[in-house]
This record gives sequence, C-alpha cells and structure tokens, in this order.
Amino acid sequence: MSMELQINLAPARKEKPAADKLGFGTIFTDHMFVMDYSVEQGWHNAQIMPYGPLLFDPSVMVFHYGQAVFEGMKAFRTKDDRVVLFRPERYIRRMSYSIQKLCIPAFDEAFVVNAIKTLVDIERDWVYGAEGTALYIRPFIIATDPYLGVRPSNTYKFMVILSPVGAYYKEGFNPVKIYITDEFTRAAKQGLGDVKTPANYAASLYAGEQAKKMGFTQVLWLDPIEKKYIEEVGTMNVFFKIGGKVVTPALSGSILSGVTRDSVLQVLNSWGIAVSERAISVDEIFAAYDEGRLEEVFGTGTAAVISPVGLLRHGEREVTINGGVTGELSARLFDAITGMQYGKCSDDFGWIA
Ligand code: PMP
Repeated sequence: MSMELQINLAPARKEKPAADKLGFGTIFTDHMFVMDYSVEQGWHNAQIMPYGPLLFDPSVMVFHYGQAVFEGMKAFRTKDDRVVLFRPERYIRRMSYSIQKLCIPAFDEAFVVNAIKTLVDIERDWVYGAEGTALYIRPFIIATDPYLGVRPSNTYKFMVILSPVGAYYKEGFNPVKIYITDEFTRAAKQGLGDVKTPANYAASLYAGEQAKKMGFTQVLWLDPIEKKYIEEVGTMNVFFKIGGKVVTPALSGSILSGVTRDSVLQVLNSWGIAVSERAISVDEIFAAYDEGRLEEVFGTGTAAVISPVGLLRHGEREVTINGGVTGELSARLFDAITGMQYGKCSDDFGWIA
C-alpha cells in the first residue's frame, strides 16, 4: 500500500504549561492524525491536521455498541536531546491483534508507525525534557456508520492524539494499595480481556470505584471462572517475587499482553533471572506471605513502568509487602527501563525508535 500522508499545519501553536503542571491526559498538542475507512476505498485520507473537535452524527455506532480499540505508548526526550519512541511497532502490533476481535479491518502497521513518528516529530516541542515527563501517544479506531443495529460498522476513523504527561512519581515511588475482588470480574474467558477495547475499561469502573471508596488504589482481578487465580491489577500486569524467584500470571486469554510485561521479562532474562509464567492462586500468595517468602509485588504498565504494591487486601486479610516500601528488584527494573527510554542506558534490546 502506498498511501500518502497529507500534512496540514495549525496556523498557531498553543501555549505550553510548565513541566510541573502537566498531570496525566488533560492537555493535548496542536496536531492529530486522522485516517478514514470505507468498504470502497479501504483505509484512505490519511492526514495530520490541527487538533480539535470533530463532528459526528449522534447515531454513529461507536456511541452505542462500543466497537473501538485503542493503544497507549510514549515518546521521550533523551538526555542528549533526541525525541524517541519506545517499542512503537510492538504497540501497533497489539492494536492489529485487537482489531481482529472487534471486526475492524486491518491497516498497514508500518504506515501507521511512520505516521506516528511524523506526528511526534511535528510536535517535538511538546516532548518535555524534565525528568519523568513524556509524550503519551493515544492511537484509536472508532466505528462511524450512522446506524442503530448491532453489526460491525462499514466505516471507521483511525485517530492519534498526543498528550504531554508529567512525572508519575513526584516524590519517588509510592507503593499502591490493592484490593483483590472476588465479587466482580473484568473480562470473560474467550471474551475481550486480552484486547485493548473500551468495553474492558467500562467493565472495570464499578469495582474500581468501590475499592477507591475503601481507600485502595486499584483492584486486582481474579480469573472469571474460579475466582482463584490472579489476572492483573487495574491497568497493569502483575509480578511477584517469592523466595528469590519471579512469577507472573501466564497470558490466560483474559488479560492484556502488556508491552511493559514483555520488556520486564526480557530484561530479567538478560540478568539471568528466570521468570515463571504460570497460574498463580491468591492462596499461594498469602501462603508465601505467611512463610515470610513474599518479597516483592509490582505492577507493570506504560503509564508508571513499574508500580510497587505495598499492601494487598483479600476478604478479611490484609498484608503489607516489604514493609510497604519499594523492593530492590522493582527499583532496579524501573531504572533499567526508564534508563533506556531517557537515553541514559544503551538500547541493548533495540526498543528505541
Ligand atoms: N493491563 C491492562 C488492562 C492495561 O490497560 C494495561 C495498560 N495498557 C496493561 C495491562 C499494561 O500494558 P502495557 O505495559 O502495554 O501498558
């Protein structure tokens, strides 16, 4: 496919807030990428245009039946002042996997990665250099047929928007408090749990709010059938260090295959630390705690990279992990991955693009 990318620049640029005022996901840059799909033309009309609202008919299908996918990745400014993306191909590959389950037509991955690089390059002044900041990249596809009825849409819009984000950890790591729910489930087996689609996030809201009311940061989801095995934490995959060994739930079909999860697996492997990907029950975790072998628990995700878990609650049981402070392995992994992202360590894995 040789599609052209039209570029239409904004006549004026917005004022940029100070790096310490960024927050997460509230500010958007000056431009966005947009591409359309129709049965007759396939993916077409790819363009970078000024960021702004679009007009949609109230009947478009995404508003009613949620046929959509999205991604979340980041660009960084390195210490030698380059603007780089972290594993963009891997995220776009996951998007290609997601669209199959949502009956959305395939797109050219290389074209999209290049369009994202072009967009980020146009917006390079939005990539702050301050420690911990990044440019969050949100590609998404929505169903746009104006039609009320459940079937796959015949038209779609692919968009990419960019949002500068602040340092996730302003005062160093802040271990999170996790509530293990066996009342609610996030995703069904053989359902949509392993794809990045809005339905999964809608399904997670109620339990998340309940947990927040009780003073917890996020929910840890158990498998939807037996409510026995650990799946993932909020919007992160989860790792445990037990008696010197690292374990993480195997990709069960109902959890997201995290890019950070994969990066952590490869980094640990390169350090000679074997990780077992298998089913892990809640009982096993609490038994390990009782035996004094539960050393570290941490979540992995694009937003925070590594998020140490300081406290786990299940039913009446509540345990503090590693004295509620960040473990050594969590800190070492955080430093290794952010080190590559900010150009402080060599790109041994070829992840910097
Ligand atoms: N699980 C869920 C449900 C998520 O939304 C995310 C964030 N994308 C993750 C895991 C972590 O994935 P990644 O490391 O690719 O950000």
